[in-house]
Amino acid sequence: MLRELVFDIDMTDYDEIRTCCSGKEICGRCWAYISAAVEVLDPALREEFGFKHLLWVYSGRRGIHCWVSDQAALALTDDERRTLLSYLEVIKGGKEMAKKVNVRSTQLGKLSSLHPSLRESYDRLSGRFVEIVLEDQKCFDKKEGGWEDLLKLIPRQETVNALREKWEADPDRPSKGKWGDFMKLRNADKSGILEAAAEDIILQYTYPRLDAEVSKHRNHLLKAPFCIHPATENPRVKRWPL
Ligand SMILES: [Zn+2]
Repeated sequence: MLRELVFDIDMTDYDEIRTCCSGKEICGRCWAYISAAVEVLDPALREEFGFKHLLWVYSGRRGIHCWVSDQAALALTDDERRTLLSYLEVIKGGKEMAKKVNVRSTQLGKLSSLHPSLRESYDRLSGRFVEIVLEDQKCFDKKEGGWEDLLKLIPRQETVNALREKWEADPDRPSKGKWGDFMKLRNADKSGILEAAAEDIILQYTYPRLDAEVSKHRNHLLKAPFCIHPATENPRVKRWPL
């Protein structure tokens, strides 16, 4: 059975890291996360897998679909699709799991660095992290669901204690300032632990959140490009709604 390889990215999977909207709402500001997702997935599919025929379309409601129709993509079995997805999936785990990026191994007691292809994605995303997460969404402005979530991702207790103490004394410190506080401690740390943590945090807040089930099975139902979404009556075209 031949079937396009499809990817689905939906804004509802971004609730933990967007502050402007939640659930069924969507606005131009949270759409920036989707733009960042395309900036990373498009080159990964072209450069690492050699696919050429990629069609990105608005899903008609709260996200985007990518249809890959190269001959090699059409012929992928479900097993091969699963393998490809596990390679591209970086964000894993449900709400109860604080740390969703686990991409490193420990070698001789030291954390490994990012895989070269993930490093490329990281380089593309680190600037977007500043624009979207720090300056626009201000993800670390508030305590609950904000900077406390950030502290959960820092693997050294003395660093967490120092930051918490500083921020509790100055809770209105903007997200960018709080991130700067963490960067200062990271720069002073020679072990590499905080450097790795900072990279993983940037990935957790910007890397595409893929709906893996859609891509893994050839029989997964996904409405074709150009047809109308029944609930919103938006056409699935290559034109974003916002
Ligand atoms: Zn929004």
